[in-house]
Amino acid sequence: MLTKLTGGKVYDPAHKVSGEIRDIYVRDGKMVPPEPNARADQTYDVKGKIVMAGAIDPHTHIGGGKVTIARMMLTEDHYGTEVPRTELTRSGSGDAVPSTLLAGYRYAEMGYTAGFEPAMLPANARQAHMELADTPMLDKGAFAMLGSDDFFLRQLAAKQEFERIKDYVAWTMHAAQAIAVKVVNPGGISDFKFNQRKLDLDEEHIYYHITPRDIIVTLARALQELGVVHPLHVHGCNLGVPGNVETTLATIRAAEGLPLHLTHIQFHSYGTEGDRHFSSGAPRIHELLNKNPNISIDVGQVMFGQTCTASGDSMRQFAISKNASPKKSVIMDIECDAGCGVVPMRYRDKSYVNALQWCIGLETFLLMEDPWRIFLTTDHPNGAPFYTYPHLIRLLMDKGFRDDMLQKINPDAAAMSIVGSLTREYSLDEIAIMTRAGPARSLGLKNIGHLGTGACADITVYRDDANRETMFATPELVFKNGELVVRDGKVIKVVNGATHVARPAYDKSIETSLKHYFEDYHTMRMGNFVVSDDEIENNGKGALIVEPGRARAS
Ligand SMILES: [Zn+2]
Repeated sequence: MLTKLTGGKVYDPAHKVSGEIRDIYVRDGKMVPPEPNARADQTYDVKGKIVMAGAIDPHTHIGGGKVTIARMMLTEDHYGTEVPRTELTRSGSGDAVPSTLLAGYRYAEMGYTAGFEPAMLPANARQAHMELADTPMLDKGAFAMLGSDDFFLRQLAAKQEFERIKDYVAWTMHAAQAIAVKVVNPGGISDFKFNQRKLDLDEEHIYYHITPRDIIVTLARALQELGVVHPLHVHGCNLGVPGNVETTLATIRAAEGLPLHLTHIQFHSYGTEGDRHFSSGAPRIHELLNKNPNISIDVGQVMFGQTCTASGDSMRQFAISKNASPKKSVIMDIECDAGCGVVPMRYRDKSYVNALQWCIGLETFLLMEDPWRIFLTTDHPNGAPFYTYPHLIRLLMDKGFRDDMLQKINPDAAAMSIVGSLTREYSLDEIAIMTRAGPARSLGLKNIGHLGTGACADITVYRDDANRETMFATPELVFKNGELVVRDGKVIKVVNGATHVARPAYDKSIETSLKHYFEDYHTMRMGNFVVSDDEIENNGKGALIVEPGRARAS
C-alpha cells in the first residue's frame, strides 16, 4: 500500500532537510523514495503543515518497579484524573504518574512514537518489560542499571581482568534485554547500605574501597570497547546538592575524551553563591561542555506543579524525603543489588529554590551551542510530567513568552539567573534535532527519528501555529509504521510498538562465575533472571529490534 503526504514543510535534520516543501511517500509502513508516477492508495494534503518524524523521549520513567510504587503510593494522583474507557481506548488515571495505557495514549497524542525507560534494574527487567509492553503506541527500550551491584563492585575491587568486566556488562545487557547502560549515583546506592550518606567522585566506597570515578571510567570504557552506541548514561554523584556543579565539572574532566551522557544535568548544576547559598552553575558547565564534544546531556527541566520523584538513587531520595509533598515516601533496597526512592514533590513558582531550578534548566537549554548533544527531557516524572513538553517547547522558542513567565516566579530567583538576558529562540530545526534526530543518533536507533528511505514511517504533522505550545500539544496527524493513529490530538487507532535492544558480543564463559554468584547470593536462579526473546515477543503482541552496534574500538 502506498501512502503520500503532499506539500508539507519537512524537518528531517538527520538528512539536513530543514523546512523544505516536499512530498513524502510511505509503502507498507516504511519510508520510500518519491514515486511521483505511482498511484497512491491514500493521499493526505498537508500543505502549510509542519512534518517531522515521530518524536522520541530518550529518558522517561514509564516502566519498572519505582513507577508502580509511585502509582500505588499516590492515591491523590488518581482522584479527579480518571479517564473513562472509550470504544477504542481503555480507562486509566494519573497525572504525575499516569497508568501505562494512559502514558502511551498521551505520548502519541503529543506526536511521540518512542520512549525509553532509563533505569531498569536487571533484577526487575521482566517486570519493566511487561509494563512497557502494556504501554501502547510507543516503540520502547530500557537501560540496564549497573554500578552499585555487588558482582561488578567485587570485580572492580578485586582488580579483575578488564575483559571479564566487559563480558559481565554485555551479559547483563543481553539478560535484561537492554539497549544501553546507566549508572546511578555510582557506588552510592551500595554505600548507602553501609550507612553512608554521601559519596563524591573521588571518595572511597566504605566497603569496596573504590571510587565513583573508577566506576564511571570503567563502565564508559567497557561500553566503548563493546561497540554499544549509546555512551554510559550517567546520573552523577550528589544529585540536588548545592555546590554539586564542582562534581559535575570534575565528572566531565574524568571522562578524558571517552563518550559520556550526563542525564538530568539540571539537578547537577547547582552552585552555592548568594545569601541563600544556592545558585546556578549552568554557565560554568556550558563553558566546559562546549569544549568537550564527547559529552551529551539531557536536561531534566523542572516545571511548576505536583509531580513525583522516582529514582534508583536511594541515598539522595532518602535525603530529600523530608521535603515530600504530600508527606510520604518509599525508600527501599532491591535484591541487595540496587535501590529505589519514590518521593512526591510539588514545585512552586514562588519558592526560591524551585524557581531557580526552573531557571537553571532553561539556562542549560539556551546556552548549549550544539543541539545534537542536548535532549529535551523533564526526566518524567522527576522534574515534571512529560505532558508539559509543549509548554517547555514554547518557553524555548518564544522569548516574549519566556519573559512573561519569568515575571511570575520568585523575584530573587529571577534576579539570580541569566535567563532574562538570553535572547536565543530555538528554531523548528533545533526542536526536531533535540526531540528526534539527536536521541535516535545517540541511542543508535537506525530506523526511527528520521524520514530517510527504509525508516519506519513514524510521522507527525503539526499545524504551523505561532503559539508553539498549542502546536506541539495537538498534532493534526500522527502515523505509526505508516498507519494513521492520531488525528487532531486524539488516538484513533491503538497499536503496539517494538522493543529496541543492543547485543554486544561477549565471552560466554562469564556465566560460570555468574552461576555460582547467583546460587550464593540471589533470590532467583540465573536462568530465571534472563528475559527471553519469547517473553518480549509474546506471541506477536510485541516485537524485538536488535540495533546494530558501532564498529569496535578494539
Ligand atoms: Zn531519570
